[in-house]
Amino acid sequence: MSADRTALTPLPPGSWLGMLGGGQLGRMFTVAAQTLGYRVAVLDPAERCPAGDTADLHIRAAYDDAAGLDQLAERCAAITTEFENVPADSLRRLARDRRVSPVADAVAIAQDRIVEKRFISSLGVPVAPYVAVLAEQDLADAPDDLFPGILKAARLGYDGKGQARVSSREEARAAFHAFGNVPCVLEARLPLAFEVSVVVARGADGQSVAYPLSENVHRDGILAISTVPSRQASDELAERATAAAIGVADGLKYVGVMCVEFFVLDGDRLVVNEIAPRPHNSGHYSINACVTSQFEQQVRALAGLPLGDTAMLAPAVMLNILGDIWFDENERSREPDWSAVLAVPSASLHLYGKESARRARKMGHVTCVAAGELSVDAAAAKVAHALGIAFP
Ligand code: ATP
Ligand code: MG
Repeated sequence: MSADRTALTPLPPGSWLGMLGGGQLGRMFTVAAQTLGYRVAVLDPAERCPAGDTADLHIRAAYDDAAGLDQLAERCAAITTEFENVPADSLRRLARDRRVSPVADAVAIAQDRIVEKRFISSLGVPVAPYVAVLAEQDLADAPDDLFPGILKAARLGYDGKGQARVSSREEARAAFHAFGNVPCVLEARLPLAFEVSVVVARGADGQSVAYPLSENVHRDGILAISTVPSRQASDELAERATAAAIGVADGLKYVGVMCVEFFVLDGDRLVVNEIAPRPHNSGHYSINACVTSQFEQQVRALAGLPLGDTAMLAPAVMLNILGDIWFDENERSREPDWSAVLAVPSASLHLYGKESARRARKMGHVTCVAAGELSVDAAAAKVAHALGIAFP
């Protein structure tokens, strides 16, 4: 790991940091930045949004609005992003006269599943078997062993959106048309033993630190539970995944926090699912269970400060809170029983302040750690029961 360039001059407290995107990841970044004494400006088009509500300044503008971007650049000494779908050209525009991390080229790779898979493969790290689908002919030419598969739009997907499970070429063609013939990848549906992810923070000096491997359960394509340390992964598997994740960060010359999601096959074969050029839902446990959270790390990397210790203070289980639990079986809306959650001594509740609950919408999360007599699993089971979430 060689130094890519000399360390950045640290930004003094009181400086303004900029955030493209106003969702929950931006909100948790904002809180971490303010804790370190920075001020935060968030650019997001919505009237109200989770990060805009907590930021010192909310610039209401589209992600490609030149005037909004210029206002952000004028105000802020350094700028980052909380989601991969911000136009790479907006990051390039900001980078003309401001420190921007991650850089547009790294985000551009994660933005497009075709480019992303090619890049990861070029590092010698395996990905799920796939073909790029730019036209119907690519589906006709696709090898048989990609079925049953998943057709994924190359761009703009999240939380399982823009994906279709396809059992045959015919179904794949229908899904390709339904997506409007946009570029896609057709991926083989793999028999997953389990799923894991590694969050990495990499500084401008080229040094990386990795968080403990998280074991992740998804439901309907959305993360539901993260358990750290993983129960199923051996130390050897965790080491391999961590080395691969740091290899990807090095390959991207990445500065900031990123995550690599893996599929585990046959107990110990690892393939990369995708990378996220930002803190990740599977790393939220770090807020309560690690010395330095992934969001504080994002602030430190952006501000040119030393990276913090990623060590765990206690085993953790994180449960995502989706909008579904605001509705009873008759679709009547209700308020979840937060007191019952907080009656569990080691439960930390994080709500993102979203104005309205919708099914499948991420509204918050709870992290449980082991504390006193209560094991982390027992605590998580109590929280899940209180909220009506399936566990494990
Ligand atoms: P997010 O951005 O929220 O992580 P996404 O929309 O990018 O989600 P993926 O990460 O591609 O979606 O897939 C979501 C989940 O669907 C995976 O974590 C996994 O559980 C399942 N899945 C995706 N691709 C495959 C595959 N090829 N084989 C088996 N399961 C898969
Ligand atoms: Mg994913």
